[in-house]
Amino acid sequence: MAYQYDDQNIFAKILRGEIPNQTVAETDHTLAFSDIYPQAPVHVLVIPKGPYVCFDHFAAEASDAEIADFHRVAAQICADLGVAPGAGGMGYRTISNAGEHPVQEVPHYHMHILGGRPLGRMLQKAD
Ligand code: AMP
Repeated sequence: MAYQYDDQNIFAKILRGEIPNQTVAETDHTLAFSDIYPQAPVHVLVIPKGPYVCFDHFAAEASDAEIADFHRVAAQICADLGVAPGAGGMGYRTISNAGEHPVQEVPHYHMHILGGRPLGRMLQKAD
């Protein structure tokens, strides 16, 4: 596996403070902010601060501390925003696009958290 991280991607610019964001949560390893084009009432992006292109890159090369922190921040956001079923919410969907087929637009690993309305089934069946 050989990923080349492009440090000019828009989330790298957000992490460097060159582009503003609506921060939802931040730790030493992780940043979460509102998606600029929300697809649902809750649409938050969770990103590691390290230079990882996509999920499998992150899982292979990030430290255990980064991986644990990322997931704990994401889960806490689901609870805080009232969508976690375990906290009485109506549920949420997490999505992480990697590469061409799912149309990853930004080549810095991110998890979408979507909720706040019925989201329908995950995918439409292809013809
Ligand atoms: P993906 O297609 O999975 O790479 O998703 C990229 C997401 O980043 C899209 O949902 C965009 O709306 C979102 N996005 C792009 N630029 C920004 C930005 N400056 N601030 C917040 N979200 C952004």
